[in-house]
Amino acid sequence: MAKMRAIQVSRPNGPFEYVEREIPEPGEREVRLKVQACGICHSDSFTKEGSFPHVTYPRVPGHEVAGIIDALGPNVANWRVGERVGIGWYGGHCGFCESCRRGDFVTCSHLSITGVTYDGGYADYMIASVDALALIPEEISAVEAGPLMCAGITTFNALRNTGACVGEIVAVLGIGGLGHLAVQFASKMGFQTIAIARGKDKEILAKRLGAHHYIDSLEKNPAQELAELGGAKVLLSTVTEAEAIESALGGLSINGKCVIVGATHHPLSISAAALISGRRSITGWPSGTSIDSQDTLSFSALTGVRSMNEAYPFEKVDEAYEKMMSGRARFRIVLLTGN
Ligand SMILES: [Zn+2]
Ligand SMILES: [Zn+2]
Repeated sequence: MAKMRAIQVSRPNGPFEYVEREIPEPGEREVRLKVQACGICHSDSFTKEGSFPHVTYPRVPGHEVAGIIDALGPNVANWRVGERVGIGWYGGHCGFCESCRRGDFVTCSHLSITGVTYDGGYADYMIASVDALALIPEEISAVEAGPLMCAGITTFNALRNTGACVGEIVAVLGIGGLGHLAVQFASKMGFQTIAIARGKDKEILAKRLGAHHYIDSLEKNPAQELAELGGAKVLLSTVTEAEAIESALGGLSINGKCVIVGATHHPLSISAAALISGRRSITGWPSGTSIDSQDTLSFSALTGVRSMNEAYPFEKVDEAYEKMMSGRARFRIVLLTGN
């Protein structure tokens, strides 16, 4: 039996272990992928630390996968060996729960999650359901595709589902791993794009990413500045500090919507009266399904949106993961699985 390299975690808070495994065979409606690159996402900590209800061990993490289809299981239509595909957080749905019966697959109550409920992309090969596959356009490299499968789809899909119209004001809070993609998407989608971050030094980057205005939240009150610019129809929050979100909420326009994609458990304090009088709302957005990922990739190919990535060799997972978790990684980290 041919062998492959994989990086697994055997217990909550256990170390990354380099192991040799048999190359797996795809089952019914599955494909085998030769992994080329896999982004390291903050949510990989769910698997590493066991801070998620459905993780079973040992588990290979990684849900920002890009690779090449290398084998097809039985009953696979429309996919061919040699095609380049990406796989994100959404790894397939049950088909039986109420959400699935309503066609809302990403909220499936038995969602398959790549690198969480089944083995992900920190390996030479992985098995994926056909439901999870997104076709990668030729303009986009494997390293570029990886982060678009999670950070990319989350911001792209949230922005295109806000109901904001072309030309309206969309503010992006934070210019990190999610925010630097959100600013590019908002600008390319034709919104009047306002970036909000801490410090004067981020202004040049924000403008280079396509922001039309920049608000330095250390210098200025974001809510006041947004209001002076006409009020934000959408405030897309990519940060995790509750105070940062609170400081911008007052800048929502009438019918303005704050959409939260940066995951945090800190409680938010808001003025209920301000929500009522201006019909404002606060909502969250969960990434999307594989066709949403494919749309993200197509749009990125068309418009030139890319994340800023730092690549690490397969052997350096500890260093790469530590850099991402410590917050020292400015944007996205990608593990090169190329074999
Ligand atoms: Zn992720
Ligand atoms: Zn379901």
